Amino acid sequence: MIHHHPGDELLLAYAAGTADEAVSLIVATHMSYCAVCRERTAKLESLGGALLQDLPPAELEAGALDNVLARLDAVKPFERPRRAASRDGTPAVLRAYIGGDLSTVRWRSMGPRLSYAPLFKRGKVSARLLRGVPGADSGVHHHCGTEFTVVLQGGYTDPTGNYGPGDLQVMEDGMSHNVVADPGEDCVNLAVTTGRLKFDSLLQKIAAPLFGF
Ligand SMILES: [Zn+2]
Repeated sequence: MIHHHPGDELLLAYAAGTADEAVSLIVATHMSYCAVCRERTAKLESLGGALLQDLPPAELEAGALDNVLARLDAVKPFERPRRAASRDGTPAVLRAYIGGDLSTVRWRSMGPRLSYAPLFKRGKVSARLLRGVPGADSGVHHHCGTEFTVVLQGGYTDPTGNYGPGDLQVMEDGMSHNVVADPGEDCVNLAVTTGRLKFDSLLQKIAAPLFGF
């Protein structure tokens, strides 16, 4: 049961194709768990199409249609790479970035209880997988920029609530929290950050840049 969904502005940005790659990955991953948001996004998409239809027609330059047709001829049809089905329920959109299932990820250790795997970095925007054993504690940290998190396995709790598979959390610029992995299986999250995290503890202040946080 999913309790935490993206807001309409995120779904709209996704539906309109204006969200950047990392945010699109977050929303698409959430939607692979969430039928409610899939349906809502489909509605937003058809609403966008209806709005476009209502726009007054614009004059086209002479030859515009020929230009478009010529460009279509030049485009090679996109062939979606064929991948075997996931063995562990890893969302397809995420498998494309991991290059396989969650169970095949090579984790890098950040101490005995936490590990991570970078997915990509575009300027200040980073997408990574985070993994914590039950009881693992992120330490109090402040956000510069926004952090988007989707739980993939297990769960975690912070002062704002409890998050399980498919739940999406948005931490805005300037907010701080402390995340503790729930009992049971390891907690695995997809996290996108648009800025660096600032940690309260001295050890983490030293360690964070080493791990690219
Ligand atoms: Zn949802």
